[in-house]
Amino acid sequence: MNKMEKESGIKIPMDVKNGKNTDLLTKFPLLKRILKARSFQFIIILPNLFVFYVIILAGIIGSPVGNRNIAIVFIWILWWFLLIAIMVPFASRVWCTMCPLPFFGDLFQRMAFIKVRLGKTAYLRNKMFGLNKKWPKYLTNIWIQNIGFLTLCTFSAVLVTRPFVTSIVLGLMLLLGTVMSMIWKLRSFCSYICPVSGFLSLYSSAATMELRRIDNDVCLKCKDKGCYKGNEKGYGCPWSEYMGTMERNNYCGLCTECLKTCPNDNIGLNTRSFASETIIKGYDESWKGFIMLALAMAYSVILLGTNGTIKNWANAPETGNWGGFFIYAAILWSSALVVVPAVFYFFAYLSKLITKSTQSVKEIFKTFSYILVPLGLLAWIAFSFPLIFVNGSYIISVISDPLGWGWNLFGTAGFKWQPLVPDYLGYVQLILLLTGLGFAISRGYRVSLNIFKDEHTALMGLLPMAGFALLVTLAFLTFFIG
Ligand code: SF4
Ligand code: SF4
Ligand code: SF4
Repeated sequence: MNKMEKESGIKIPMDVKNGKNTDLLTKFPLLKRILKARSFQFIIILPNLFVFYVIILAGIIGSPVGNRNIAIVFIWILWWFLLIAIMVPFASRVWCTMCPLPFFGDLFQRMAFIKVRLGKTAYLRNKMFGLNKKWPKYLTNIWIQNIGFLTLCTFSAVLVTRPFVTSIVLGLMLLLGTVMSMIWKLRSFCSYICPVSGFLSLYSSAATMELRRIDNDVCLKCKDKGCYKGNEKGYGCPWSEYMGTMERNNYCGLCTECLKTCPNDNIGLNTRSFASETIIKGYDESWKGFIMLALAMAYSVILLGTNGTIKNWANAPETGNWGGFFIYAAILWSSALVVVPAVFYFFAYLSKLITKSTQSVKEIFKTFSYILVPLGLLAWIAFSFPLIFVNGSYIISVISDPLGWGWNLFGTAGFKWQPLVPDYLGYVQLILLLTGLGFAISRGYRVSLNIFKDEHTALMGLLPMAGFALLVTLAFLTFFIG
């Protein structure tokens, strides 16, 4: 039993512990050389920083019409789809590797784009600028991210249609990330505030890729601990993760620093099966799952559904129906924070009742909440497919006219809107939702074994949770397909 297992009381499946299918860095030495290069992250962030700048500018001075402005089309159609349907499920938090938001904060703390400064800053062996205050212990969780994300999403009808609002929000996040880096140590903004980080952390646990130490014993004997403390080759982990015991993807921002700092070349980039990391550590993570599930349902109704009244309520800044907006916000917040968790709690209670387990309902509730990961992630992917398939053609036209000013930079500005295979979308969504259900049940069984230990009791304990997953899937099918 390793440290993580002792802490959580949960047995980590063997395929997570040592069933690494392929170490991509061993298989592709060129990839290893690229990731180990000091300039790697800087080079990969730079073009994104430029696009980010254009997007913020476009939101402020460009066309207010959403589908003619790169701020809306690139962020809410292209980026969102790539993030949720490709990056997170296949490559964990790879977006954080290239995200431009912490760029200026990192630059301030390091006073260098690439260079490493040796020195002493708390436990780090790097010279870091700024106040480097410790983040308050009682806030070392993802509750702020949960509430921040829910708040942003409450205004999503405006956020995803008005370029100006998108720009302001992105600009504020950039500013906040930078200011926080001046006050608090390392990437406190990424770890505890960034609203995107919350769902990236939760869903990256399902990803088919992980960065991990290769040999436990090498880490145990390692005196340098460069991955955590930094050394002349690179910075100590900006996310305060210690590779020697890290067992989950959740809080590794894939910055690749530890690849550079590990003196024993003891870090691999492994492929693994989907949703193989089945551990939820705290209620903040459970609630992230509930919030994401409730939001996916709400968005399916608002953005893809035909109910005019709810759309009208959600879009109050445009319709002026603030009374309706408060009803909508109250329904959204109570569903995400109270109703869906309460329903799940009831099913967890049934699980305890059927199995006559000595485990508390709370523990069963928390541990089983992992099933929300495959269930929610696949529901979000199913939700996002229509966005890209129906509105993807805007990407081609907006590339030539990013501000909506009538330019035609690459000759594609006149590309007509044309939805892709709309007749087959329902089937794609059906397959995705059933895949989510399948993983929720199969991984739920693994979780159930961890709780109830013997196979028969585990199956009985799983039954109510499988019922919950089935109900959720049926609800999504009704929203998507009718
Ligand atoms: S946590 Fe947020 S700000 Fe930080 S790198 Fe990831 S997406 Fe960017
Ligand atoms: S520096 Fe390398 S060998 Fe040492 S603890 Fe970190 S990952 Fe393990
Ligand atoms: S463990 Fe830390 S240093 Fe290593 S890639 Fe993840 S965030 Fe970066």
